[in-house]
Amino acid sequence: MNESLLLKTDRLSKTFKGMQALSDVNLSIDDGGVVSIIGPNGAGKSTLINVLTGLLRPNGGRIIFKGKNITKLSIQKRVKYGINRSFQINSLFNTMTVKENILLSLLNGELHFKGFFANKLPAEIEYTAKELIDDLNMADKMNVEVDKLSHGEQRLIEITLAIAKPPRLLFLDEPTSGLSSGERDMVINKIKKIADAGTTVVLVEHNMDVVFSLARRIIVLHRGRILADDTPSNIKQNPEVKKVYLGEDVNDA
Ligand code: ADP
Ligand code: MG
Repeated sequence: MNESLLLKTDRLSKTFKGMQALSDVNLSIDDGGVVSIIGPNGAGKSTLINVLTGLLRPNGGRIIFKGKNITKLSIQKRVKYGINRSFQINSLFNTMTVKENILLSLLNGELHFKGFFANKLPAEIEYTAKELIDDLNMADKMNVEVDKLSHGEQRLIEITLAIAKPPRLLFLDEPTSGLSSGERDMVINKIKKIADAGTTVVLVEHNMDVVFSLARRIIVLHRGRILADDTPSNIKQNPEVKKVYLGEDVNDA
């Protein structure tokens, strides 16, 4: 058995009302670095992440994480095993402050009502929250409501929350969508740091500059199937991939 194998799927499939969103997907993710999943709109990228992280149940196939069959485990169990994610759309509580969002996340969304609203939380939670706020460079904004921040700042908070307890495997679904190029660079740097710190990152991304600046390996999904799975330089030259992107910018990156 391959020592560095982290996650593996075996004929994974998902259908929505008879529509095959994932068909017999066999993939393996080795430990370390950034692996990117690309593919046209509707290819099944988000569905794949949803199935791998436990948000959706597959209709067939298996998911093996560190040698263990996790196909039927809940999201929370998978988080405990070290699998976490960020969403394609904003998942913060917009009318709550930066600090409140961070505290809630550290409490695993379990509102310990009394403690939370009476400002009486365990010291270690307060301490971790402060560390995360410092890491974000947002000490001056910790009492600002999230919807008053820029999209880039919001995205950085979301990613920071996903790694609050450092996961072994982190899924990021289009973390740069809707960001300006400056904000995009901040997110790219964050992803680099996360990978350097030892978390394996699976990045769904449509921006080819981002993909080619981060990924050690690229998996191309097309109509719910893996079309190619290779190094960035080989993907750039793959005729099948070029055909799917109809001359789009795989080559300009
Ligand atoms: P991508 O993230 O690659 O753009 P998705 O995984 O979101 O693609 O979607 C793959 C296909 O599955 C699309 O045809 C989409 O319309 C369909 N789909 C995704 N989620 C649902 C859902 N919850 N219900 C029904 N159809 C869905
Ligand atoms: Mg998607």
